[in-house]
Amino acid sequence: ILEIKNVKKSFNDSTLHVLKDISLTVAQGEVVAIIGPSGSGKSTLLRCATLLTKMDSGDLLYSGDYAAKTNEQGVSVYADKQQLKKIRSRFGLVFQNFNLFPHFSVLKNLTDAPIQVLGRSKEEAEKKAMALLEKMGLADKADAYPCQLSGGQQQRVAIARALAMEPEILFFDEPTSALDPELTGEILKVIRQLAEEHMTMVIVTHEMSFARDVADRVIFMDGGVIVEQGDPKEVISNPKEERTRQFLSRFA
Ligand code: ATP
Ligand code: MG
Repeated sequence: ILEIKNVKKSFNDSTLHVLKDISLTVAQGEVVAIIGPSGSGKSTLLRCATLLTKMDSGDLLYSGDYAAKTNEQGVSVYADKQQLKKIRSRFGLVFQNFNLFPHFSVLKNLTDAPIQVLGRSKEEAEKKAMALLEKMGLADKADAYPCQLSGGQQQRVAIARALAMEPEILFFDEPTSALDPELTGEILKVIRQLAEEHMTMVIVTHEMSFARDVADRVIFMDGGVIVEQGDPKEVISNPKEERTRQFLSRFA
């Protein structure tokens, strides 16, 4: 559904090479986990893949809803501006720090974009939002404000908000790293459920056992390159590369 081709990205007048020729594909319904040390470029890769940051060179081929169905290889998201905007709206994003609108109620956090961007009616958006809150076990919090919720509840609202836009791919950047261990479990449970429903997801995480259980494929990044990728059980339990082994030994 998405193919990332030879992405390069540097900062500080090209002196800091953060992504050095990264390529990867994400198939429909696949769950990809990205692991790697701090500073290895994981967030930068997600930002490039979700078009929040422009890559220096490389291409993104997309073969989802808005792509020409005749072109199985996918179309470049950079092909035209109008298309880029549409494609961006097909990607959902959940960050470490929830990023909810603090002055909106939980319900409004979920209905605002569907109304403004997708042109949904208020009734339609609210019905969908309530169904999502129900699913997240938060139906009773619809009228609360984000500051009145726990971190785990806020993060579930953030996931519901992303889902309200009916994304084709959901990207997570360390969705549990700002949470206490006991709240981490409830978020991982939600993501696990989405995986069972065959949601296409790319998840940057430090939760190794979660990655091993839930992902179809694990990618280990270090120093702006993909060092190793493959079956989660292979990569996490039996890594081929010394760098992967060193990184994983910290979690043992
Ligand atoms: P972490 O696990 O700590 O989140 P990461 O793998 O997500 O790390 P990135 O956030 O992608 O790492 O950052 C990779 C490198 O790029 C770091 O050295 C960071 O300082 C640098 N970097 C990221 N964004 C910018 C920016 N906007 N301007 C300058 N340097 C940046
Ligand atoms: Mg990061």
